[in-house]
Amino acid sequence: MKMELRKTFQFEAAHLLPKLPPAHKCRRLHGHSFQVEIVVAGECDAELGWLMDYAEISKAFKPVWEQLDHHYLNEVPGLENPTSEVIAAWIWKQLKPRLALLTEVVVAETCTARCVYRGESGG
Ligand SMILES: [Zn+2]
Repeated sequence: MKMELRKTFQFEAAHLLPKLPPAHKCRRLHGHSFQVEIVVAGECDAELGWLMDYAEISKAFKPVWEQLDHHYLNEVPGLENPTSEVIAAWIWKQLKPRLALLTEVVVAETCTARCVYRGESGG
């Protein structure tokens, strides 16, 4: 039985997008309550009746979350241009080695806009 689990996290952070023209609003320093959805998928354990413990997802994500929450993202190595796209790929890179079943990272800056990253093919 193939299953997928989704767990949502939130972090608060400031950023600006340095590659945009000065007149663009995202070029100015501002903050978001970012939402991150971590998705894992795989074969459900028939005996336990679950894919994995949600607490394992939280545990794997915690050190990543600590680098993001209440930080100025532009100062985080690898996030010099912290678009949602770059943040999603950065989270994937940190998390995949610790969470083998990871299939998707979703980053939302607002309630109505979200970016989905599913890794590179084969990776
Ligand atoms: Zn922004």
